[in-house]
Amino acid sequence: MRSSLIAGNWKMNGSLQSVIDLVEGIKAGDPGNAELAVCPPAVFLMKVGGMLAETGISLGAQNVCDREAGAFTGEISAAMLKECGCSYAIVGHSERRALYLESDQLVAARFSMALSAGIIPILCVGETLDEREQGVTETVVTRQIDAVLDLCGIEGIARAVIAYEPVWAIGTGKVATPGQAQAVHAFIRAKLEQLDSGVAQQVQILYGGSMNPSNAAELLSQPDIDGGLIGGAALKADDFLAIAQSA
Ligand code: PEP
Repeated sequence: MRSSLIAGNWKMNGSLQSVIDLVEGIKAGDPGNAELAVCPPAVFLMKVGGMLAETGISLGAQNVCDREAGAFTGEISAAMLKECGCSYAIVGHSERRALYLESDQLVAARFSMALSAGIIPILCVGETLDEREQGVTETVVTRQIDAVLDLCGIEGIARAVIAYEPVWAIGTGKVATPGQAQAVHAFIRAKLEQLDSGVAQQVQILYGGSMNPSNAAELLSQPDIDGGLIGGAALKADDFLAIAQSA
C-alpha cells in the first residue's frame, strides 16, 4: 500500500514574511494522513527548514545542480540542499524544461545528483497541449523517464517520486480529468512493471496541474494517483491542507 504525498511547489512567490505566515498556517492545520512536503524558493530553505523541525513536514528544493561543486554560478549543489535539511528536490519541472531549456539528459543528471546526496528526486514528466493533441503523450513521458532509467536504472527510480504534470494543466486552471490522469499514471506504472514489479508497485506517482480543494478528492481516489504536486493552491495554507485531507 503506497502512502500519499502532497507536495507544495511555491515557485518564485512570496517574501520572507509571507513564507513565514504560510509555514505557520500549515503547521497549525491538520493534514490528515498524507505526508506533506513544501518546496520554497531556495533562499528561504534554511528558514523554513528551521520552522519545520520536528513537525513531520518535509522540506524540498525546486531544483538541484547536476554537478557536485565548483564554478557553476547560480547553481545549488545536492550536498548544500542536504545541509539545509531537504529530503526532496523537484527535477525536470516543465517550467525548467521550457523556460530554461533543460534537456532530458540534464534532468537525469540532476536526478542522479539528488540521489547521491540522499535526497529523493521528484521527477516531473508530462506532455504539452500540442503533444497531447498529436497523440504522443505516452511517447513523451517514456522519453523523459527513459533518460533517467538510462543514467540511474530502475534502482534510481526506486528511490524517487514521479510527478505526472500535463503542461497544459499547470497554472492554467485546466485540470486533467481523473480518467485522463489515471490513464497516464497507469501507463507509467505498467512501463516500470516491465523492469521491476516491486518498484512499480511501490513508487509514488503524483499528479500535478491545477489541483485544488474542489477537484483533489476525485483525482486522489484514482488507483494509480498517490498524491499531488501542487502549485498555486499550495500558496494558501487552508487550500493546501484541504487537498491533503482529501488524500
Ligand atoms: C506545478 O507547477 O507543479 C503545478 C502543479 O502548478 P499548479 O498547481 O498551479 O497548476
